[in-house]
Amino acid sequence: MTDDDEARQLADARAQREALNELPGRLDAVEDRLSSAEQALEHFAELVTEADIRTPFHWPDVPDDETRAELWAGLVEWIEKVIVPWHPAAAKMLAPCWWQHRTTVGLLTDAWVAWIGDYRSREAKHNAGVEWRNTALPLLTEGLKDTLSTCRNEREHRDDVPVGDMTATVPRGPELPSLLLG
Ligand SMILES: [Zn+2]
Repeated sequence: MTDDDEARQLADARAQREALNELPGRLDAVEDRLSSAEQALEHFAELVTEADIRTPFHWPDVPDDETRAELWAGLVEWIEKVIVPWHPAAAKMLAPCWWQHRTTVGLLTDAWVAWIGDYRSREAKHNAGVEWRNTALPLLTEGLKDTLSTCRNEREHRDDVPVGDMTATVPRGPELPSLLLG
């Protein structure tokens, strides 16, 4: 073996060792990329679910308990994440017993579905947000004011659906409000 061959072999071995040393770092990077791709997919799946609600719906028409529970969770989440932090004037009109009022649930549902169409639909026009603020939001705020004035004044829940009181917490699971059914 010539000196040149030996030097080449040494250089090759060194290069291989360096490549091996870099492997864990590269694997980490691949893992990071995979996990962020996974997160993006999950996020997309959520958006698709929400974007699937393309038309207004009537609660008693919802075919099964599971779908009803999913829709209800979506509505409650929207109230908590959009109405409360972004539209405080409307949120102020939301009494703790809102979920025991069929009319209020209907109002909120329509505003929510319109919001999905205006903010989450790929087909939404550029002025859709302005439209929502101009039409759905004032309707919602006014409607909430009307339907909840009795409960606010009396400081206790009074409605045609006597299923609870002001201190009851919003249901999230299988114990959905019975008013959704009829
Ligand atoms: Zn009430």
